[in-house]
Amino acid sequence: SGFTRFNLSPFLIKSLQTQNIAKPMEIQERLIPAILNGKDVIGQSQTGSGKTLAYLLPILTKIDPEKNYIQAIITAPTRELAEQIYQESQKLLGGEDTPSIRVKRVTGGIERSRTVTGAFSPHVIVATPGRLKDVAQSQMLDVHQAKMLVVDEADQMLDMGFIEDIDPIAALMPDDLQMLVFSATIPESLQPFLQKYMNAPKHAHV
Ligand code: AMP
Repeated sequence: SGFTRFNLSPFLIKSLQTQNIAKPMEIQERLIPAILNGKDVIGQSQTGSGKTLAYLLPILTKIDPEKNYIQAIITAPTRELAEQIYQESQKLLGGEDTPSIRVKRVTGGIERSRTVTGAFSPHVIVATPGRLKDVAQSQMLDVHQAKMLVVDEADQMLDMGFIEDIDPIAALMPDDLQMLVFSATIPESLQPFLQKYMNAPKHAHV
């Protein structure tokens, strides 16, 4: 398929075939290689553009399931969007011979106590910012080794005041954090946040 020329994990190529997803959409063409290479990216695109797979495919490729800690955090402004992202991840991880990558939801709809993880840490967190800030600051979740952070629908995050919740979470994460920002619009008021956290980002506007 058109996805085979990216260096994605073979299980993901198989899963895309099973889902009849054959041809990369433009945002995927432009950002998958950059994300795999560790670059910061800004994806300026609407819902329906394929933005979720543009970040999920490289993130799931880069996760090492043998490492028992959180490696990526995906944030979204609403519980519903977080749920959709989680469901897309489960579709990608649903096949046979799939590595056991653990994805966990941390949103307002889920009991706070259930986010305590026990012996097996999740590898990927899909969260709404308020709840994530709460559990990260109370050390129920350890984010200090998570090197990838997605901010999905960043313009909505800004409108809802959630960008202020991302700040203290990012502060707990490594200095060489890879930041992936997706937003339909890039308002001027988002610039301070982008400039604080992003290093020479690749910008794709589709
Ligand atoms: P999104 O913009 O992430 O909300 O994605 C919109 C929808 O497009 C989702 O249902 C995806 O499963 C689907 N999709 C994503 N990438 C592709 C692709 N390359 N070809 C066909 N459908 C896709």
